[in-house]
Amino acid sequence: MKNLKLASKENKARTVVNVSGVEIGGGFTVMAGPCSVESEAQVIETARAVKAAGADMLRGGAFKPRTSPYAFQGLGLNGLKILEKARQETGLPVVTEVLDPRDVSWVAEFADVLQIGTRNMQNFSLLREVGRAGRPVLLKRGMFSTLEEWLNCAEYILSEGNPDVILCERGIRTFESYTRNTLDLSAVPAIHELTHLPIIIDPTHSTGRISLIGPMSLASVAAGADGLLIEVHCRPQEALCDADQALTPAMFADIMGRIRPLKAFMDQLPEQDNFLPQG
Ligand code: PEP
Ligand code: MN
Repeated sequence: MKNLKLASKENKARTVVNVSGVEIGGGFTVMAGPCSVESEAQVIETARAVKAAGADMLRGGAFKPRTSPYAFQGLGLNGLKILEKARQETGLPVVTEVLDPRDVSWVAEFADVLQIGTRNMQNFSLLREVGRAGRPVLLKRGMFSTLEEWLNCAEYILSEGNPDVILCERGIRTFESYTRNTLDLSAVPAIHELTHLPIIIDPTHSTGRISLIGPMSLASVAAGADGLLIEVHCRPQEALCDADQALTPAMFADIMGRIRPLKAFMDQLPEQDNFLPQG
């Protein structure tokens, strides 16, 4: 792929992003939590539950990129303070979205990983800003973006001096309407042959259906993903955002119970010959 000076596989075999001891790209990392931070009780209860089920990191949005300006936009600074408290209580590092280049430096003081959402993937001033923030970045794929466009966005962050970029496939728009988006699972091996950066799958936003999240999580493990980002809410019916796709803690624990043995089984298989073109 042209123009990929830093993201290209030719530069480096593998990037492992270390977030307070959690190694993304060095195993299988599960990030879980609510779509949005709604209250301290909601986040702490959910954080405890996902930790008990074996999650490695806590997710939760304090700034929400909503389709309607009248929908719940997130708690902002108060939400970040709640996430900080949840980290203190559980020890789970926190991934949270930043929407505006002007907020990056202070949001970075609360976040262990800064999330760039699908709607902002090509917000180049935001990418440059998180490239200078001194925090790992979770870069979601734009819902209309090719792999090449996505990797060029990673290149923006890397070129500002930030080597810690985690890619997240969250589904792309197609004509299919049964699912919220179409999960491009082939992005996992494709990204692994194009770049050294880790890639995780978001089975929540890509399917938008709780019944499909478990099967797609297992498929992500089999495809060689470096982890998952899953929405979990202690009372999904009450969620202020994405209520239809949030798992209960019990559903999440059930999926975790199948992911871990599958990953262990996959790790025993002989290294796959990836049939890359020679020369
Ligand atoms: C989210 O993770 O809550 C989110 C808004 O995701 P996306 O940007 O993929 O829609
Ligand atoms: Mn969401």
